[in-house]
Amino acid sequence: MRIDVSNLLDLFFPPLCRNCGSLLADNEHELCSTCLTTLPRTNMDQHFQNQAESRLEGQATFMRAAAYCWYSKETTLRTMIHKAKYFNHPEILYRLTQQAITEWSGNGFFNGIDAVVPVPMHKQKMRERGYNQTDYIAQAFADTLHISMYEDALIRSRNDKAQAMQIDNALRKSNVRGAFEPNKNVELKGKTILLVDDVLTTGATIAECAKQLHKHKNVKIVVFTLGISVK
Ligand SMILES: [Zn+2]
Repeated sequence: MRIDVSNLLDLFFPPLCRNCGSLLADNEHELCSTCLTTLPRTNMDQHFQNQAESRLEGQATFMRAAAYCWYSKETTLRTMIHKAKYFNHPEILYRLTQQAITEWSGNGFFNGIDAVVPVPMHKQKMRERGYNQTDYIAQAFADTLHISMYEDALIRSRNDKAQAMQIDNALRKSNVRGAFEPNKNVELKGKTILLVDDVLTTGATIAECAKQLHKHKNVKIVVFTLGISVK
């Protein structure tokens, strides 16, 4: 008799929703349908000149931008991102991104993209945490859209203090100014790049990354974040 180890493991460690802890059905992965359904979607993929775009305008040059869900203290998304970042569950972000891609497929938002670049983490922080949660967002795009992922296209050359929600906009901007540089060993000339991050707040981080990516000739930038903070 052949024993399927994964089934056996499920028997002793049944897969649970990373967010609410309920038992997952066979067709559910990482998050249950209830938790996914309750996410406060922005539907920004259907609207140009949405809040993500207006927040980046004047700071960054980009083709289009959108965030999947609203992010505030009360939202499920905040708990999910918190677990992904601080409790060693970055796979939550992979699953959320897959969900966003499925829901937004067919509306053209992701059309024409050649490559995906995540907002990088400083190497010291990376050592402490063990992973960059944004890489998991990028990886979901690479796997689903079959595009190249350049997780080392940008280098975070300065280790900033944690950007809490409370710090004011001016401080946030000065915090990230000059914090990134392009990796000279990565060639992105002529590519349409999807720049991804977990949460869009003031847009200062994305703007700084976009500026560095534009140092490659003729690049176009599309911005995607899982959350956008509610002002
Ligand atoms: Zn759940």
